[in-house]
Amino acid sequence: MDYGHPLEFGTFITPTNNSPQAPVALARLSEQLGYDLVTFQDHPYQPRFLDTWTLMTWVAAQTERIRIAPNVLNIPMRPPAVLARAAASLDLLSNGRFDLALGAGGFWDAMEAMGAQRLTPAESVDAFDEAFDVIRGIWAAGERTPLKVDGEHYRLNGAKRGPAPAHDLPIWVGALKPRMLRLIGRKADGWLPSLAYLKPGDLRAGMAVIDESAKQAGRDPREIRRLLNVWGQFGPPSGGFLQGPSAQWIEQLLPLALEDGVSTFIVGSDDPDVLQQFAAEVAPALREAVDRERAGAAVASAPTRSATVLAQRRDGIAYDAIPAALRFGAIEPGDPGYAAVRSTYLRAGAPGLVLQVRTAAEVAAAIAYARSQPVALAIRSGGHGISGRSTNDGGIVIDLSKMTGIEVLDESTRRVRIEPGARWSDVAAALAPHGWALSSGDYGGVGVGGLATAGGIGWLVREHGLTIDHLRAVDLVLADGSQVHASEQENPDLFWGVRGAGSNFGVVTAFEFEVDEVGDVGFGQFVFDATDTAALLERWGAAVEAAPRDTTSFLLTGRRQPGRQPMAQMFSVVDSHDPETVVDRLQPLAEVAPLLDQTAQILPYARIMNVTPSQHNGQGDPVSRSGLLEHITPEFAAAAARLLESGAVYFFQIRSVGGAVADVHPAATAYPNRSANFSVTAFGSNRDLVNRHWDDLYGHFSGLYINFETDLRPERLTDAYPPETMRRLRELKSRVDPDNVFRDNFNIAPPVLAGV
Ligand SMILES: Cc1cc2nc3c(=O)[nH]c(=O)nc-3n(C[C@H](O)[C@H](O)[C@H](O)COP(=O)(O)OP(=O)(O)OC[C@H]3O[C@@H](n4cnc5c(N)ncnc54)[C@H](O)[C@@H]3O)c2cc1C
Repeated sequence: MDYGHPLEFGTFITPTNNSPQAPVALARLSEQLGYDLVTFQDHPYQPRFLDTWTLMTWVAAQTERIRIAPNVLNIPMRPPAVLARAAASLDLLSNGRFDLALGAGGFWDAMEAMGAQRLTPAESVDAFDEAFDVIRGIWAAGERTPLKVDGEHYRLNGAKRGPAPAHDLPIWVGALKPRMLRLIGRKADGWLPSLAYLKPGDLRAGMAVIDESAKQAGRDPREIRRLLNVWGQFGPPSGGFLQGPSAQWIEQLLPLALEDGVSTFIVGSDDPDVLQQFAAEVAPALREAVDRERAGAAVASAPTRSATVLAQRRDGIAYDAIPAALRFGAIEPGDPGYAAVRSTYLRAGAPGLVLQVRTAAEVAAAIAYARSQPVALAIRSGGHGISGRSTNDGGIVIDLSKMTGIEVLDESTRRVRIEPGARWSDVAAALAPHGWALSSGDYGGVGVGGLATAGGIGWLVREHGLTIDHLRAVDLVLADGSQVHASEQENPDLFWGVRGAGSNFGVVTAFEFEVDEVGDVGFGQFVFDATDTAALLERWGAAVEAAPRDTTSFLLTGRRQPGRQPMAQMFSVVDSHDPETVVDRLQPLAEVAPLLDQTAQILPYARIMNVTPSQHNGQGDPVSRSGLLEHITPEFAAAAARLLESGAVYFFQIRSVGGAVADVHPAATAYPNRSANFSVTAFGSNRDLVNRHWDDLYGHFSGLYINFETDLRPERLTDAYPPETMRRLRELKSRVDPDNVFRDNFNIAPPVLAGV
């Protein structure tokens, strides 16, 4: 039976250690020759071999495209819970290029000598069965309960889950006995026997056992890929199996594909000539012959996912119509990687499909596909959206988090090209060796895409301005799929709109920035007694306005705790590595209220931005408000103190802006409110309550910063964009996105749809 899987080809390389780089070189050759997969046997008791995990990791680091798998991994010597983490880790490190193949081991004397516990064949099957539960249980990172497995051979008593692999990582099994074949039918994703150990008829009989067992378990047998290790030599025609010219190989392998259902042929050879000839002459011809026969016989394609995963698909999405170029990065509910991508940093989500894209062409394909589906669309880069709803319920997410390139274009003009999925910590780390920095925000985990399309109020904002003020060009994919470059010279109106309202016009696939020369900076962290909140705010505001531009200061306070002294934290950056200057700048700021604690240090900007990213597990929907403020007047300070007393907000932050931000003309970008000296943000839990108290402050503001605002009422648009800015934005929107495809973040609907 032909199960309809696309044909794949792999190599099977001896992990010999007498010339340790030899297997690595053969793996790289396999990649160059176009093989899909490189595999290695696993005999951890064999002193002549490299350890297979170590070798696979090394190979993953030395290759870029080819997938890597053990052939097959010795389960009795590899505790499955640890193995699961190792497999997921290698899959994550290699960008989804690891596949797992397991075996029950066989050389018991050697295994026992290494400490393995000898098992009977029946016990081996049971142990294997439990190993499946352990491995898949560990990978189920989205499950909230710890993993318990109460098996005969493996007992896990509340193990922590995760990490989830980067892709729907298959588990294949190399085994021959009927009990193991039945287990494959029940649980595995593939069967990987070696032809050398099969007698005539064994292959077909084995397939039948697996199919029958799969059906009894309620599975579609086509979920199980059939792989085969083969060995041979090229030479003159002969009667031997795979002992002749390429044409003979093709003739002998074709029935195995069409009649027995083998879809992955793995060539066992360490001879580069054999690998080369197979790749050049056998693989393409075999693939062509199989495609031809399948077209004639109308063989249905194999399902790409298990029945359990398919059952979790959401209505309204034509999953089978996902373009081939996007399938590798398509993550569905039920896929092991789903838990890591469903939600964002702040927001819970349950999208029906996340499309991880890597190139502008893939972005274009993803937009075209998403537009053909009657569900919501969200665009995600770093997943730290506050206003930006970069997840949804049942819709599609175009996820750019794998587009993380950072490249210096021109050292002399400090031009740097940055892709949207990079995090600001990566950017700071990449620029530091050049003595450069780009003012972005206060948190390195935030993504480039969402911040650099809206503003960017960061640690160096007073001296160097907003992040968007450093933009010199962008590459975008528009709603119609066209890929455009925008700068002051090319598509200048689009370039204007991207700097402040960028999420409305397309998907930015690359930003070109001119960055600044920044060395070590002074960083002060102070804790104040905030009992007299209004006085603290007023004095701090005055001190900030009086400070030179090299000083940027953020003040943070929150909900008052009954019986506890109210406190406020101040974080200030001074763009100077001179201790005297740093102290000179921090001193007036330190005097604005009774000081409870302080630290000040001189350190690289990249150290302040350094964070270790973690999986996003946002819950609920954030409630935040934003306002831009000219001065902290006594009236504003009193209103802010009342807000804090009310208990409506748990996070209240005022950032200094002003300085270089105000040097840019309000009409030069779509970030028009440039006269403010402060950006005020509050987060609460109850939207009505927050709004009610915020109204008390509202009259003091001269606009808002969209990236800190979650209120969806239409007045917020006019707060962010005064009439002339709004007119230009709507006009631009009606030209580049008339169908309002991009609307997940501060949506400026085209005039026709907005009814204006
Ligand atoms: C912990 C935290 C700290 C923050 N600190 C700061 C700060 O110091 N300064 C500051 O200015 N902001 C700050 N922000 C706000 C931040 O700028 C925005 O939330 C921003 O949208 C996050 O970008 P992202 O790529 O991580 O978000 P995502 O959630 O990936 O995207 C948010 C929205 O941006 C749009 N978008 C994303 N990528 C693209 C793209 N490639 N092309 C077009 N549109 C796109 C989409 O509409 C999306 O909904 C902070 C946010 C958080 C959660």
